[in-house]
Amino acid sequence: MEVIASPLEMQQTALGLRQAGKRIGLVPTMGFLHEGHLSLVRLARAQSDIVILSIFVNPTQFGPNEDFKEYPHDFERDRALCAAAGVDIIFNPSLEAMYPAIAPSVAQRAMDGGQGTMADKMAGRPAGYAVYLEPGDLAHGLCGAARPGHFRGVLTVVAKLFNLTMPTVAVFGQKDAQQLRLIEQMVRDLNFPIAIVRAPIVRESDGLAKSSRNTYLSPAERRESLCLMQALKTARNLYRKGERAAPRIIEAMQALIESVASAHVDYVAIVDADTLEPVPRLEAPALVALAVYIGKTRLIDNLTLPDDGASNLPE
Ligand code: AMP
Repeated sequence: MEVIASPLEMQQTALGLRQAGKRIGLVPTMGFLHEGHLSLVRLARAQSDIVILSIFVNPTQFGPNEDFKEYPHDFERDRALCAAAGVDIIFNPSLEAMYPAIAPSVAQRAMDGGQGTMADKMAGRPAGYAVYLEPGDLAHGLCGAARPGHFRGVLTVVAKLFNLTMPTVAVFGQKDAQQLRLIEQMVRDLNFPIAIVRAPIVRESDGLAKSSRNTYLSPAERRESLCLMQALKTARNLYRKGERAAPRIIEAMQALIESVASAHVDYVAIVDADTLEPVPRLEAPALVALAVYIGKTRLIDNLTLPDDGASNLPE
């Protein structure tokens, strides 16, 4: 297994592999790997000759009061997990390499809406890294409403990773359902020659969706975090009994979550699975999605109804 930090070296290596006829599978991550990430590696492996896993905590997708600085990392552990999972190349670029010329101020830039720092303006120099992708309507609701600028940062970094690793397939988790739809749309709209593979949600044995952020939870919060998947089960049970009115399902989910001491609803929504527009009734495939603060930790989860199995929600 190779570890590459330089974007240029990554691109040259990928170009050489593609010229040699190899199919490249990309798994983009922010590191602190868990079984969810490794399931993506296995899906990439099945469809490619070379698997590249990228590790990059992307500052432009974090808001001012979010956990960019605290985001957990353990490169040696990630490296061992990747080696055991059959990853061929870890691409692990630095902040400076991904956002040249503005690295020290890039987090600040994300916070001030990409306008450049005062120092940039006073020096009269170009503000360094400047080009971002505009996500469009799919980013307006759900996490896009709660985290302004988040998907602009996500799409920008994913487009950069696509150009650097030249994948034939790229694998993304259904856990981040809105991100997945946005990447599918970006690939279609910008004509990236890349097949996007959807990976089902991987859960802990008690049903909590695996996440690098679960590590923030205290033991009491960890127990209470089960309310996310319990709320999804409530939705599924009501649906199975014939309930189709979205507001009634949302109300039942909210009541369950608000009864938990450390839980605070960010959003509970039922949207069309393709357009992500809110639906009043669950007639076509609908995405039931929620974001909940457990203490200070924001967790997300989702389920498609009728249940297509991608949520792996326990009975
Ligand atoms: P992250 O490192 O959290 O940015 O996630 C990297 C990729 O792994 C994204 O495509 C996520 O959707 C995916 N992922 C994260 N958690 C899970 C999970 N529990 N099950 C499946 N995929 C996941």
